[in-house]
Amino acid sequence: MKIALWIGTTLVVAVAMEFWAQFLHGAVWHGILWKVHRSHHRPRKTWWEANDALSALHAPVAIAFILYGCRGPEGVARELLFGVGLGMTLFGVAYFVVHDGLVHGRLPVQGPRRTPPTVGQSKSAVA
Ligand SMILES: [Zn+2]
Ligand SMILES: [Zn+2]
Repeated sequence: MKIALWIGTTLVVAVAMEFWAQFLHGAVWHGILWKVHRSHHRPRKTWWEANDALSALHAPVAIAFILYGCRGPEGVARELLFGVGLGMTLFGVAYFVVHDGLVHGRLPVQGPRRTPPTVGQSKSAVA
């Protein structure tokens, strides 16, 4: 039952990505990659912010997993990696719509909008 494996893996990975994102935000974005990420905590002057590049880092990995799931040799690994790729993609879309789109007002709809906090490199900073 491939579809059950895909759906289960997709949902588990989509949830796990939230914890991964929290780890990256505290340990890496507010650490070594602060120079890129700080744009997310400053008022935006254009539709693009440097931090968007960090959001796109996972896309090639997700695409590779999905392609492997479509073209790789048959087996459980292929089915699992397909679900992993879908889960990463689901998280990415949800993050874009909810966090960037609604919370940070980057979509032309009303949402729980807030201004990005201006913070330093504190690990307890709000994303
Ligand atoms: Zn941050
Ligand atoms: Zn944010």
